[in-house]
Amino acid sequence: MPSRFSIRDSVPAFSTADCEHALFAAKWPEGFRCPRCGHPHYYEVSSRGRRLFECRSCSHQASLTAGTVLEGSRTPLTKWFQAMFLMQIGISARLLAELIDVTYKTAWLINHKLRHAIGEWDRERPLEGDLQLLGEYYGYEYHRYLGSLIVQQGLKPQPIVVGASLDGAGDIVHLKMKAVDGPEGDDAARRGGAGGEEAAERFVQKHVVGGGADDRAERLERGHRGPTALHIAWREAVRWLAWTFGGIGPKHLQAYLNEYCFRRLLCRNDMLAELIACCGTTKTITYRRLVGSRSGIRPIPWAYRRPARSGRRAG
Ligand SMILES: [Zn+2]
Repeated sequence: MPSRFSIRDSVPAFSTADCEHALFAAKWPEGFRCPRCGHPHYYEVSSRGRRLFECRSCSHQASLTAGTVLEGSRTPLTKWFQAMFLMQIGISARLLAELIDVTYKTAWLINHKLRHAIGEWDRERPLEGDLQLLGEYYGYEYHRYLGSLIVQQGLKPQPIVVGASLDGAGDIVHLKMKAVDGPEGDDAARRGGAGGEEAAERFVQKHVVGGGADDRAERLERGHRGPTALHIAWREAVRWLAWTFGGIGPKHLQAYLNEYCFRRLLCRNDMLAELIACCGTTKTITYRRLVGSRSGIRPIPWAYRRPARSGRRAG
């Protein structure tokens, strides 16, 4: 595992001009288009230090970040790009704050806005072709030393469906991990239920092209020692969540799973380009909506949460 010093050395010092160029290309891949009238030509003007693109036809002024995930942010473009670069590693907001020199809240918000763009990317790309489905549960304690998952008493894990499109050689070409409503709890997990048949069907309906026809899907048996590429990917995801974040609560679990799948699917260079591209075409999300958004998943008492200390000291 790389130390934070080697990570720090690996973060490129992007120039503002390079970042502007890359964001321009992501936002207008076919060249400038006026957001109001679609005209392809512009004048460049600057207002209060901001670079604006003024339409030659209707005089509408568009900023580079308007309509992108970066809209409204006061954090410099170069730091956003460093955060995108670091998303290839998958680090915590605490470490990101330290590495790009912003507050924890800013780092948290940047990471979540990037995950929001990844979520949109994921939504536009359903699975297709030959499928494998694996019903799993999140919420076991990951044992760092034993390298295994331990069921704790009284724990109610969250049902997850891991689904992948495979190529002829059986390699993963597309991957999704989705939290699903379903029977939760130890008993269901021990019986090997994948959140139930119903959960798998709902997953197929929602995330597979022409959803409903799930007869092409091969169901894998759950178990963290399973040998297939899906089992391995799930194990990696759980390990990443445990080591980097100490586990994730139900509210944002889906966003982290989306991030993991995005990284798993795209090799390093492609991932940065793809991330910039989807940030340039995704409308931003506000802090209020991020913290207020309900995942639709019922809250589960997670294993890694330390029990509240009972009994106040008399004093
Ligand atoms: Zn215009």
